[in-house]
Amino acid sequence: MATVHVNLGEIGPHWTKACKKAVADLNALFHRKGVAVVLSASGAEGPSITVRTDSGILGTAVHGKTTAETGDGGRLLRAEVRLPVKVVINTPDGVRQAGPGVLKVIAAHEFVHALGQVEHSSHLMAQTLYKQLGNSPAGDTLKAGAVTLPPLSLASDTVELLKSIWG
Ligand SMILES: [Zn+2]
Repeated sequence: MATVHVNLGEIGPHWTKACKKAVADLNALFHRKGVAVVLSASGAEGPSITVRTDSGILGTAVHGKTTAETGDGGRLLRAEVRLPVKVVINTPDGVRQAGPGVLKVIAAHEFVHALGQVEHSSHLMAQTLYKQLGNSPAGDTLKAGAVTLPPLSLASDTVELLKSIWG
């Protein structure tokens, strides 16, 4: 079982929590789907994903930016995930910060890019995710076609791709 370390930089409490939740939820999904890779939010040996925020990414976006360097068989050596400093959502009373579920989905999407899915497909890896305002920040979600995220949900093509890379 390969372990990929997720190194969280100075990304603030909201992103730190969201990234840790994304790691936990992706690990549960990978386990359930038989993808032989584990993300670890501690330690530094081996392949790694470094996460930082980038003020050049607009807060209205629901995307980060990931660059990855891969070795044999498309396995990750190191990647950098950049996230917007903050993510906003429109409400009838004005703009506020998007809730934790939205941040978790954005982080998880970029982690799956780092693990090897370059092209967009559907579910978590949809090209376009639409923000859905909740009654409170905790209720905010993202829509990928007919799929509402969270919970994190991987298309079968993503599962097959990750299996082909990680076993
Ligand atoms: Zn993407």
